[in-house]
Order: sequence, then C-alpha cells, then structure tokens
Amino acid sequence: MNKTLIKLPELEFSDEAISSIIKRISDSETLVVTDPFNFSKIEGISQTVVVHDNSHPQISVIKAGYKYSRIIAVGGCAALDIGRACAIGKSIIVIPAILSTSCISLDRSVIRYNGINKLEKTWLPEKVIVCLPDLLDMPASRLAKWCQSGFGDLFTMVAASIDLQYKRGDLSLEAVIGNVGECFDALEWVIKDFNDYNEVSVRALANFLHDSSLVVVKRDGSELNAAGEHLLYHALLRLNPQYTASHPTHGQIVAAGTLIIAAIYREQTGNNFIFNLISTAFKKLGLPLTYDELSEAGIQKSHLIDGLLAIKSSGSHLGDYFKNENFEILDRIFLR
Ligand SMILES: [Zn+2]
Repeated sequence: MNKTLIKLPELEFSDEAISSIIKRISDSETLVVTDPFNFSKIEGISQTVVVHDNSHPQISVIKAGYKYSRIIAVGGCAALDIGRACAIGKSIIVIPAILSTSCISLDRSVIRYNGINKLEKTWLPEKVIVCLPDLLDMPASRLAKWCQSGFGDLFTMVAASIDLQYKRGDLSLEAVIGNVGECFDALEWVIKDFNDYNEVSVRALANFLHDSSLVVVKRDGSELNAAGEHLLYHALLRLNPQYTASHPTHGQIVAAGTLIIAAIYREQTGNNFIFNLISTAFKKLGLPLTYDELSEAGIQKSHLIDGLLAIKSSGSHLGDYFKNENFEILDRIFLR
C-alpha cells in the first residue's frame, strides 16, 4: 500500500459508557469482539464473540462463524489483537478498556502460534475511542496498575532508539532523542505534570500511546517502539511460567529492560541524562527501580540474569552487552 494513502485513525475521548456507545453505533452487520472481563457490560446489545486469549485458531473460527462487515473490538490487548486480525478487508473501531500497552492504535496484532507470540500486520482501526466513564470507574489500584504498565510500555521507545543508534554506530544523545522526540516530551510531562493516576493522566497517556502506535504505522515497522527490552520480556515469560498477565505487568517488565539499557548507555557514553530522566519518571509513576521493588512485582534478580542470558545472541544492544556474562551492572542499577 502506498504509505501516503493511509488514513490514520483518530483518537476520540468519550463521556459515554462503552455499552451506550455500542448501542448507538452497532448494526446488524457489526460483530463485537471482546474479552470475558468486558462481556458482562455489553452482553445482548449486538452480535458478540468472547476471546480468552490471542491464540491463532480462533481467528478462522470467528471469520467462518459470523457474518459481519465491521468489528468493534472492546477490551485489553488480546481482544484488540484478535479483533484487528478478524477485520482484515473490513472495518474496525477499537475501544481499549485499559491502557496497559501501546497496542491501541496500530495496524498489527500479536498473535500466538503454538505458544509463541508473533507480531503481524493486520488491520488499521478507523477510530479509537477511549471511554472515560469505564476507565475512571475502575478501582484506583487497578487503574494505577494498568496505566503504570502503559507508561512503562510507552518509554520502551527510548530503549528502541538506543538500540537503533547502536546498530547505526552513532550513540550521540542528539540522535537518540531525535528519533523519538515525542517520547522524551512524554517523559518531561511525567516529571513536571504527573500527579496521580486520574483523568488528567489517563487522557495524557491515551494521547501518548496513540501517537506511539502511529509511529509503527507510519514507519511500517516497530524498530522505534520495541527492541531488546521486549526480547527480554518474551524470554522472561518463557522462563517463568508463574508470571501472569498482571503480576508482573507487561509495563513493569519492559520498564526494567529499559532501565538496564539506559544504564548501559550511560556507561558506554559517559552521559547520564537519559538514565536520570528515566529514573526520575519511573519514580513518579511507581515503576520498579530497586531489587526490592522488582521483587514486589514478582521479578527476581535471578530471573533477569536468566532472561539476559537467553537473549545474549539476539543481536540487540541489550543482548550484545551481556555476551561476556558479566551482570555486575544490575547491582549498579537496582542495589539502592
Ligand atoms: Zn510492549
């Protein structure tokens, strides 16, 4: 497809509840794809299918079993991923029920094949609607947990930019910041303006995640969004079957990887600007900065070492650093 012809999705904030939006915009040609958690809110309004995860076989089952020309995907990442995969050649509106990752506004889905997650090109939403009443009705601890995860996932753009510049042989601060200026603006926003997980930060986070998703669409690639820290995430999930979707969260895991990459950058360049910026923002957001805080999230030092060993031949900036199997830098970051 000619890149200039892509119509990027708009982000809309709504004061309407999810159920009322679906009532208003669905018709007999609409299929709602959702997860068990959100199903009870929208049951009986439109033809609806519930997905429990992002595994591949259900895509063909849904496509064959339902007649539809448009999808409304409501829920967390799995529902949005499967929704986009079932919408290829049709149209889709996305309603994220949590803002836990930067998966909201892009034209790709993470699909699970025989236990292995693959990011593949699927279908771009025409619109992304953030329903403020549903998001803000969540218990405060739940809102904090998922939005913290979203911020953690957003800031992997910094790690990805370091990875890209490492491969280009230019680790200058100007180049690293230049690739992902909007992400550094988001870091500054957190440091200056973030107070708590509330409507102000939900709106800011949704805008940041939307813009970050669109970087993938516009580049037609995710190299500025995800790098070694996401490889580490996948390795940790593989090696630690006790990890669940919420403990530790996606954002907590990739944030730990981002912090390690920022520390490597600091030691390789002698410039501590990025490490300090990330640490200050993480502290405000409550993302783990110490072994104790990691442990509280369910991530042990031994997990990090095993995960880093597993990706040392991945060709990433993070993997290359640990080729010599020297993990002392972890104490310099997290032992405080
Ligand atoms: Zn992610």
